[in-house]
Amino acid sequence: MPIPALPVRFEGGDSLSIDLHMHSTASDGALSPTGLVALCRDRGLTHIALTDHDTMDGVGEAVQAGEASGLAVLPATELSTQWRGINLHVVGLLPEGARGALAEGLVAQADAREKRAVTIAARLEKIGLDDALARAREQAGSERPLGRPDFARALVAAGLVPDVGTAFAKHLGNGKAGDVKALWPHLREGVRWIVESGGIAVLAHPLRHKLTRRKRGLLLDDFGAAGGRAAELISGFQNADVTRDLARQLQERDLLASLGSDFHFPGGHLSPGSMSPLPRTAVAPVWTHPRLAAWIDRAAPAA
Ligand code: AMP
Ligand code: MN
Ligand code: MN
Ligand code: MN
Repeated sequence: MPIPALPVRFEGGDSLSIDLHMHSTASDGALSPTGLVALCRDRGLTHIALTDHDTMDGVGEAVQAGEASGLAVLPATELSTQWRGINLHVVGLLPEGARGALAEGLVAQADAREKRAVTIAARLEKIGLDDALARAREQAGSERPLGRPDFARALVAAGLVPDVGTAFAKHLGNGKAGDVKALWPHLREGVRWIVESGGIAVLAHPLRHKLTRRKRGLLLDDFGAAGGRAAELISGFQNADVTRDLARQLQERDLLASLGSDFHFPGGHLSPGSMSPLPRTAVAPVWTHPRLAAWIDRAAPAA
């Protein structure tokens, strides 16, 4: 089967075989890295990045599974950072893996996650979730670092909220008791780790933070000044008018466009590769960056 070439510009209406934002059991995803790669292959994807939260522990397995099935797997991670009191995510696309400051940074992130979980647990105990840490660990089902989704599911299991969405809306989302972000590095620090590791820093899902257009512009300015080179023009499904507006903001700042589903688990509204169509835009795809050239060429037909 010939591998569909990735376009060097967005003409509009493209159906692409690339997804640069997905999770596995190394963080809060449901599929193992191998299982995720198999699903991506079944869905016709040729190029993917595994972007687990603050860890690259699943990358080795995913790369190996990709090599076995002719799918180009790009080492990556999604760093938790903070900017002006908001918890922001930065995807690092890392063709050379994690080195130096990033390798140390990932150790610090794991430690921060552990400390954060203790704080979140204490706060949720105040609203009636006894033994919150143990319950979240039970939901995680493994020793991987805990995330807020584990606490959300623990709240649901204890009957304190009807569903995960309500758990975030009432207790874990932005500004709520369980939103503990003081332990994360500043946005510019996360970007620096990625750049010094030979990677490309991508601002994840910039439309998900409900920022005004002006504040989103300030964020993109700061991100670019810190060394960030791209933002996710498409993250899952989003409004087409807002997408075009974001494209204008990227173009004005000479930022590249990345895209991804932010897939976490099967059975939801998202699958690997599922996302809104790209608009016709002059913003260049992130895969035209020279640092990704060797990786882009790696996909080969399955033997
Ligand atoms: P953490 O990495 O521990 O800060 O948790 C953030 C993760 O929680 C995100 O990556 C999503 O997977 C999940 N999440 C955030 N908001 C919601 C929401 N409203 N409903 C369900 N899951 C969410
Ligand atoms: Mn997540
Ligand atoms: Mn994210
Ligand atoms: Mn994500």
